[in-house]
Amino acid sequence: MNTIVKEVMDNLERKKIKTRYFETKNQVMEQILQETKNVTEIGIGGSMTIKEMNLHEALEKDGKNIHWHWLVEPEEREEVRQQAAKAEIYLTSTNALTEAGELINIDGVGNRVSAMYYGPKKVIVVCGINKICSDLITAMDRIKKQACPPNAKRLGLKTPCAATGACNDCLSEERMCNVTVIINHKPMAVDLNVYIVGEELGY
Ligand code: SF4
Repeated sequence: MNTIVKEVMDNLERKKIKTRYFETKNQVMEQILQETKNVTEIGIGGSMTIKEMNLHEALEKDGKNIHWHWLVEPEEREEVRQQAAKAEIYLTSTNALTEAGELINIDGVGNRVSAMYYGPKKVIVVCGINKICSDLITAMDRIKKQACPPNAKRLGLKTPCAATGACNDCLSEERMCNVTVIINHKPMAVDLNVYIVGEELGY
């Protein structure tokens, strides 16, 4: 673990957010499979990190009920988002994590960001080392350059960033940057855990 990761973890702990470090995604997968042993209902937020890890498949094989709107037809998504927000454990990533231990996220619907601070009993945020930013400004810059444009492109949205790779703070019908949430400290009603992985994961 490098000194920056150590500093991030110290700051998360100061903010009463539990944190652990894993060298590889396989190690964090093993930990989550172990940690969910006695849990049946698992919600997942929109996350390329979780998708890249195929964590949902491993959990399904383990007999869990997975509530993830990415796995269902459009007409079922709203109901599944609601179920995910009530799950015992919610898995997601973060768009950025600052050295001061703040989690910054931008969302279109808002289900992912709201479930990170209210709803599920326990939230596990899997954060690749590429998401660590020096401060809030760098974090916003990262999200607008490295997260939103590829996401918009992947989803086939008709937004300027999908076409050009750059944000122009659009007013598009399909704008995905509608809610910005900064978690500064452990939210009162959720057991919030940030698992940092020493590999690049998601975007
Ligand atoms: S505000 Fe619009 S252009 Fe900017 S990143 Fe969000 S969706 Fe893309």
